[in-house]
Amino acid sequence: ATPTAIMVGTGMGAKRGVLFKNAMALETSARIQVVVMDKTGTLTKGEPEVTDVIIDGMPQDELLRLVAAVERESEHPLAEAVVRHADALGVAAASAERFENVPGHGAIAHVDGRRVVIGNRRLLERENVDLGTFAARRDELAATGRTAVLVSVDGVTAAVIGIADAPRDTSVAAVAALHDLGVEVVMLTGDNQATAARIAAQLGIDTVIAEVLPGDKATKIAELQNNGRKVAMVGDGVNDAPALAQADLGIAIGAGTDVAIETADVVLMRSDPLDVPIALRIGRGTLRKMR
Ligand code: ADP
Ligand code: MG
Repeated sequence: ATPTAIMVGTGMGAKRGVLFKNAMALETSARIQVVVMDKTGTLTKGEPEVTDVIIDGMPQDELLRLVAAVERESEHPLAEAVVRHADALGVAAASAERFENVPGHGAIAHVDGRRVVIGNRRLLERENVDLGTFAARRDELAATGRTAVLVSVDGVTAAVIGIADAPRDTSVAAVAALHDLGVEVVMLTGDNQATAARIAAQLGIDTVIAEVLPGDKATKIAELQNNGRKVAMVGDGVNDAPALAQADLGIAIGAGTDVAIETADVVLMRSDPLDVPIALRIGRGTLRKMR
């Protein structure tokens, strides 16, 4: 691109808080065929809230006391939602011992000498815990687009906690605008398949890649790059950094982590998904002026 076209494109982006880090980022934006979007914090607000606590055989206060003790040690957004919920209900504090964070799965610790496991189905399966009647409750929550967090105490499933994270107001419009540009939109998430599929359907996204472990996101991007397809990845988290680096164009949501922002080629300062199609349009406009 000519220096003038690049200056104009960069300036147009900057006015909207769409920061292209260099000329290459602007040029690549014009050639993107697939946009992969992280679910949590990118398509959704990233403000999870507990909506359901389904228990069997244990008072809610006692269950939440054990769960909050473990989740207080975790930095996961879902853990923060659980702790906030317990605090709002005035649940008594307890301390967790031998805390273990299991990336992409959940957390494990001992409270009052009891082994508490909190996380997804994969984690409970790994622990050889039978979901029993909770399997159906979990599926019901997932079908509504909520994340179902399972809890086992001393090897027995004790509860399933439903957590909702609302889509951002402009996510539907952003997906539609990308489709208008002829771009394929893919949702990528560590969350479970049913939950992700429900939210994708609400947003008009047809391809979902779910239950991806944090370390595997970059591999999924590489797979989408087959046949030389140009892939952009939009994300916000520390987990997303390798995928942002692997993509032809890494786009970070400005409200995200420093690692994501440093790794990305483009930063969306307003954290608005609508700025993704805008970035691609600015790129296309810049290329057109070159010719
Ligand atoms: P995401 O792509 O949503 O950031 P992660 O890879 O961080 O996903 O986590 C994948 C899944 O593991 C979550 O959807 C959740 O079910 C479970 N999980 C991870 N950490 C925790 C935790 N501290 N408490 C409860 N569940 C967790
Ligand atoms: Mg995330």
